Order: sequence, then C-alpha cells, then structure tokens
Amino acid sequence: MKGSSLLGSIAKRLEGKVALITGGATGIGESSVKVFVQNGAKVVIADIRDDLGQTVCDDIGCKNSISYVHCDVSSESDVQNAVDTAISKYGKLDVVFSNAGIIGNRDPKILGVDYENFNRVFSVNVYGALLMGKHASRVMIPQKKGSIIYTASVSSVIAGDVPHAYIASKHAVVGLTKNLCAELGQYGIRVNCISPSGVPTPTLRNAMGGIDKKTAQELVSAKANLRGVALEEEDIAEAALFLGSDESKYVSGLNLVVDGGFSTTNRASG
Ligand code: NAD
Repeated sequence: MKGSSLLGSIAKRLEGKVALITGGATGIGESSVKVFVQNGAKVVIADIRDDLGQTVCDDIGCKNSISYVHCDVSSESDVQNAVDTAISKYGKLDVVFSNAGIIGNRDPKILGVDYENFNRVFSVNVYGALLMGKHASRVMIPQKKGSIIYTASVSSVIAGDVPHAYIASKHAVVGLTKNLCAELGQYGIRVNCISPSGVPTPTLRNAMGGIDKKTAQELVSAKANLRGVALEEEDIAEAALFLGSDESKYVSGLNLVVDGGFSTTNRASG
C-alpha cells in the first residue's frame, strides 16, 4: 500500500459512515460528535438541549456533515423521529452511540430512594437505551450491518457511594448490551458499551460545586490506579470511535471499561 493511502485510512476512521449520537449537546457526547466528524462521519446529534446542540453544530461548522434533532430518548416518537432524520438526511445509519444519561438524585443512601427519581433515571438510562436499540435495529437489520454503542459507567462493575437508581440503571445497560449482542449478531450488528470512571464534564463539575476542570481531574484521578494521566471526554470519544469503526469489526458484547485501572484495583465485583 502506498504511504499516502495508508495515511488516509488512518486519518478518517469513519469515512462514509453515518452516526447518531444521543446526549451530543455537551460532555462526552459533544466530544464524540467532534471526534466522529473529524474522522469523516456524518453525524446527527439527538438531545433535549436544543440551544447547546445547535451551538455544537455551528461550532463544528461542516454544515453537510452535521445536524441536530430534538429528541428525548425516553419518548418513542422522538427516538423514531431521530433515527428517521438520520435516514432522510444521509440515507443510512451505521453507528448509534446511545450516550444520553442522567444521574438523578445524587443521594447515595437507601433512605433517599423514591419512585419518582427511580422512574426518571430508568426512563432515560434504560428505557431510552432500549428504544435506541429498537429503532437502530429497525434500520440496521435490513442493512445487515451496524454498530450500537451504549455509555454505561464504571458503576456497572463496582459499587459504593453511587445513587442506587443510577448504579442499577448502568448494570441494566450492560445486560441490555449483552442481550442485544446475542439477538443482533445474526444480522451483522455489533453491540457494545463503554464504562467510564469520573469524566470532568461541565455537568460533573457543576455537581462538584462548580469547580474548574483541573481541580475536578485531580479529584477524580486521585481514585485511579493509573498515575500521571487525567481522564478527558476525548478518551471516551476515542473508545466510541474504535467501537464505531471497522477496526472493531469482530468486537461485540464488550463492556469497554475506561477507568485507569480503578475498578480492577478497587472492590471489583465482576
Ligand atoms: P452530561 O450531563 O454532560 O451530558 C449528558 C447529555 O445528555 C446532555 O447533553 C443532556 O442534555 C442529554 N440528555 C439528558 N437527558 C436526555 C434525554 N432524556 N434525552 C436526550 N438527551 C438527554 O453527561 P456526561 O457526563 O457527558 O454523560 C454522558 C453519559 O456518560 C451518561 O450516560 C452518563 O451516565 C455516562 N457517564 C458519565 C460519567 C462522568 O463522570 N461524566 C461517568 C460514567 C458514565
């Protein structure tokens, strides 16, 4: 292979692919939108924060490669519309990065549990993920190809100091990943999830009292086992890039934990 074509294939790892990214208006999703577009994908951002979503589109600027659609992932008509928007704009759908999620009430104690909060967290994190899987499958099964990626959390493999509804929801996302992997492999569709530890997104920093990014990184990386490396949104975007690209064409059913060794060295539960 000539050097130039080799460089070309490395530079654009999603060339020709169409991706839908939920929760793409900020945080991990926003970073993933940027990384996907840089790597040649056409991207539809699906989110409830219309102002932020539109700003991401405007900032990236490649009008032919990116668009925004309002989508509450817990609403089936919104999810259906988001998937149909990708098809009507770009003609197909290769990658769904179902990343939107909420932590809900941050009280980690059992006496703080209530149904309203549980229902809200599960509606977004689990039912939303299920709906994305359903409507991604609707278009990917006839294509006989596709990659569905979920954002779970390191809370899918460890426990402690995390709200019960959230940790239960992220364990559920891993179960959903495995079951969809089992069902959809026959159609050439891969299903994987990513489990980050604390990523210093604007939302997390606000929840930590509005602290700056460097302080947040120091606090979250103090718990990691890997030293001298700070976790960034881009690290999760790169994991999604790998799972969305053909480099991972034989990878399905994986929970890709991106936590600097944290869960391996702290109370790993399987
Ligand atoms: P974030 O709050 O910065 O961004 C979440 C995005 O999802 C926002 O744009 C928000 O508007 C959108 N969203 C929320 N509810 C939605 C809904 N019902 N429908 C559509 N969009 C909705 O969060 P983040 O930190 O980037 O988290 C992204 C994912 O990563 C979540 O699933 C989260 O649970 C997971 N995660 C985050 C961390 C972390 O430390 N930041 C760690 C592990 C897992």
